[in-house]
Amino acid sequence: MYQYRKFGNKYVLSIENHNEISAALTAFCEERRIHSGAVYGIGAVNEATFRFLDPGTKKYVDKTFNGQMEITCLTGNISEKDGKVYLHIHVTASREDYACIGGHLLCATVNGACELVVEQFDGSVGRRFDEETGLNLYEF
Ligand code: FE
Repeated sequence: MYQYRKFGNKYVLSIENHNEISAALTAFCEERRIHSGAVYGIGAVNEATFRFLDPGTKKYVDKTFNGQMEITCLTGNISEKDGKVYLHIHVTASREDYACIGGHLLCATVNGACELVVEQFDGSVGRRFDEETGLNLYEF
């Protein structure tokens, strides 16, 4: 599913071809017991579902995109909610015509490579649901 090497408090992580990025990254965080951190990287996918939070309804609208895409930027953070790994990741991806789409990452399937850096923080950070925004906000 993935391979990695550790450098101090950082990991270089390669998610293997045809794996789903959110699932692989969650499994990696569980294995390495990462309770808070940051993640960034690049890669290529051939299917991706992005979410858009409508502030009016406070509901996520999901949309799936098919076809080969370069992940030009994946960036986000790792925390915990209800004792489980909680990923908050945004992605920008370019399509064959070089135009970009993006959003909050729900899932994406690697087609080629996915190369990430995960920085592990020393401790844990939780989340709580916020009624006003409809978001699971950081809780310190
Ligand atoms: Fe988001």
